[in-house]
Amino acid sequence: MPGLEDSLRRPVRGMRDLTPEYYYALRRVEEVLSRLAESFGYRRIETPAVEHFEVLAKKAGRDIVNEIYYFRDKAGRELGLRFDMTVPVARMLSYRLDEPKPVRWFYFTKVWRYDEPQHGRYREFYQFGVELVGSASPRADAEVLALMARAIEAVGVGDYVIRINDRRVADRMLLSLGIKPSEEIYRVLDKRGKVSEEELISMLMGLGIDREKASELLSLISAAVPYAEAPEVISKYDGELAERHSAVAKALEAFGVLDHMAWDPSIVRGLDYYTGIVFEAFAGRYKLAVGGGGRYDDLIELYSGIKTPALGFAIGVERLMEAAGIEKAENPLDYYIYPVSGEAYGVAVEVAEALRAKGASAVVDLGEWSLREALERAAKTGVRHFIIIGKKELEKGVVKIRDMAKREEVEVELSRIKAGL
Ligand code: AMP
Repeated sequence: MPGLEDSLRRPVRGMRDLTPEYYYALRRVEEVLSRLAESFGYRRIETPAVEHFEVLAKKAGRDIVNEIYYFRDKAGRELGLRFDMTVPVARMLSYRLDEPKPVRWFYFTKVWRYDEPQHGRYREFYQFGVELVGSASPRADAEVLALMARAIEAVGVGDYVIRINDRRVADRMLLSLGIKPSEEIYRVLDKRGKVSEEELISMLMGLGIDREKASELLSLISAAVPYAEAPEVISKYDGELAERHSAVAKALEAFGVLDHMAWDPSIVRGLDYYTGIVFEAFAGRYKLAVGGGGRYDDLIELYSGIKTPALGFAIGVERLMEAAGIEKAENPLDYYIYPVSGEAYGVAVEVAEALRAKGASAVVDLGEWSLREALERAAKTGVRHFIIIGKKELEKGVVKIRDMAKREEVEVELSRIKAGL
């Protein structure tokens, strides 16, 4: 039988099969990041993968709407897969109005985007992120930024920078050039670094900005400085916003992460729902952003009708893992148990159960390999201990335990193992 044709053996375009080695590495990252978020007082949530299309489309922005996996169910409902977790959280809070504020929630889950697949860009990927809902304080901005910094550090990346801007400052900057701020302009500016400067200029010209203004704008947004100097830059546009960012910087200093923050006017973010501070995180030499976030003070109101300030971040887990050089985690089997004879099988199962009850992992051989084959396989697949139960051992009431790394064997009484070694 020829089996499936080649293209059908592979996952759907832009999606990936995760091997146990990769999945266990991902699980470890999940544990580390979850513990971190919990240590900051955030609690985990999950929402359905499937949302009402209308909810997703409401504040997605044109680019993202085109990236939504859209379908109708059998009853004709228009549905879509979530493209981030901020929108589902906003929806969830729109009917849980009495959730005590500020709400501190986090997630580690899959999202889907019909994006053009390439390195670091998938159609199904994991995001870890937090949402802090119900506070307008600059300290809230700093808490979320500091937590993002700690998350990057927690996976072992010390060399990272979080690039910060503010949509309101960006608006003032555009106005200072006589350009009316619009979502279209931000969407073009968000492409900076992804397309050439010439292409950017022609896209801006396509929005009715003349060439001279367009290049002036591009040079203005190219001037990044350490975040500690941001208030000085911002004060040219708006005194109140300069003061706000000065308060954020002060709080970040208290967290000890200020040196990892830069003020970068080119960061505008593609999503439409941002209203204040926006930021993206870069790790080491990894080119793509490993995370992004910002303040979205109008989004919750759009769903609940109640004005609620909020901000959050999302980290692309696969990207962060790649930047940290985390590709796989070994997860060796503790015990492989080989009953040499049929009558030893029952004893082998009992031994396995006793070991499992102690929290160890144990496999009982299925009786299709010789002892030598089983030993060879065990050496290859990473088994810690190989237990042999032969006729001799049965008579003596013992098992032989071979330490695969040290290549040493010891005899242990069966009764001791069954009692919990
Ligand atoms: P965004 O809010 O769109 O900036 O997404 C937050 C983070 O998710 C980004 O900084 C990336 O690390 C990650 N991300 C976004 N799109 C993709 C994708 N198509 N594949 C993998 N990771 C992605």
